[in-house]
Amino acid sequence: MLDTKLNDEAARLAALGRYEILDTPAEPAFDRITQLVRSILGVPMSVVALIDSDRQWFKSRTGIDTTETPRDLAFCNHTIRDRVPLVVPDACSDARFSSNPLVTGDPNIRSYAGVPLATPDGYNVGTLCAIDTVPREFDPGQIAILENLGALVVEQLELRRIAERDHLSGALTRRAFVAEMDKHIGLFRRYQRPASLLLFDIDHFKRVNDTHGHPAGDVVIREVAACCDRTKRPNDILGRLGGEEFGVLLPESNASQAGAAAQRFCDAIAALEIAHMPPLRVTASFGIAEIGPDRISSDAWLAAADIALYAAKHGGRNRVAIAKSDAAQPD
Ligand code: GH3
Ligand code: MG
Ligand code: MG
Repeated sequence: MLDTKLNDEAARLAALGRYEILDTPAEPAFDRITQLVRSILGVPMSVVALIDSDRQWFKSRTGIDTTETPRDLAFCNHTIRDRVPLVVPDACSDARFSSNPLVTGDPNIRSYAGVPLATPDGYNVGTLCAIDTVPREFDPGQIAILENLGALVVEQLELRRIAERDHLSGALTRRAFVAEMDKHIGLFRRYQRPASLLLFDIDHFKRVNDTHGHPAGDVVIREVAACCDRTKRPNDILGRLGGEEFGVLLPESNASQAGAAAQRFCDAIAALEIAHMPPLRVTASFGIAEIGPDRISSDAWLAAADIALYAAKHGGRNRVAIAKSDAAQPD
């Protein structure tokens, strides 16, 4: 049977993209697996390689310094073309690899065993592999271990994705959103890069649930999130922080730019007609806080935006309020 998924590069890249993992920092869960490969198979090098359009990028690497190589040099680029492990006992006597710069020079690959990392829907996004600088055989027991550890890598990728995205709205979970805030706090502390946080809460949402039922409330949450996703810029980050409360992180934006953006979100939500019988309309209130010296913890930054949000609610809802920059007081 023709395995079309092995030849659908666009869908394969989309599957990889869904993990949002390229160029992220090392994570212990993946490093533990490459360290296990190294010790159990007795090889000096092991990597979790993800095959991007023109490079292989290592989510985890042990015994190897580079973080990526061009795709056309990658042994793993051969591995992902098949459903079964690729074993190369001696790269120097294998016509596919004997003149490969990774074989003739650093890191002097001589033998290789790699298993494809297939997503649950069947796309090979990368490999887990064992690499040695001397020729060697890998016995079936070792390959079986590598296959099991490869399955663990995929499970970890899936868990990581589920933990970061809220199922109902598709926005980042609170935990993942706060991690993004921490990243921007780091950028502010080191390079004084500005950023603003926008918090919003749907107005009188209890009435939606009470009048139309909880499932209709869920539709409202999903549609409001989708509306924000359409309205935001590609670099803005949307998170669901609680029931019907969301955050948008605006990189490189000061409070007045964030105010203009929030007004666009506010108008877009108010104009939204949510499919239901009869169609539903909601509004939301927004609080904005620009990052600053007194907001270099996610808690302090969130608290400043929350005070502004409270002011927007008390000012009559369906509006935007901006926290003052130093005293964290709303306008
Ligand atoms: P306000 O304008 O002051 O924000 O009024 P509100 O009615 O929105 O007040 P509040 O924030 O207290 O109410 C939020 C409600 O959202 C209460 C809770 O039952 C409901 N809720 C929380 N999570 C969900 C969810 O996932 N789905 C639905 N349908 N409702 C939810
Ligand atoms: Mg509310
Ligand atoms: Mg609320």
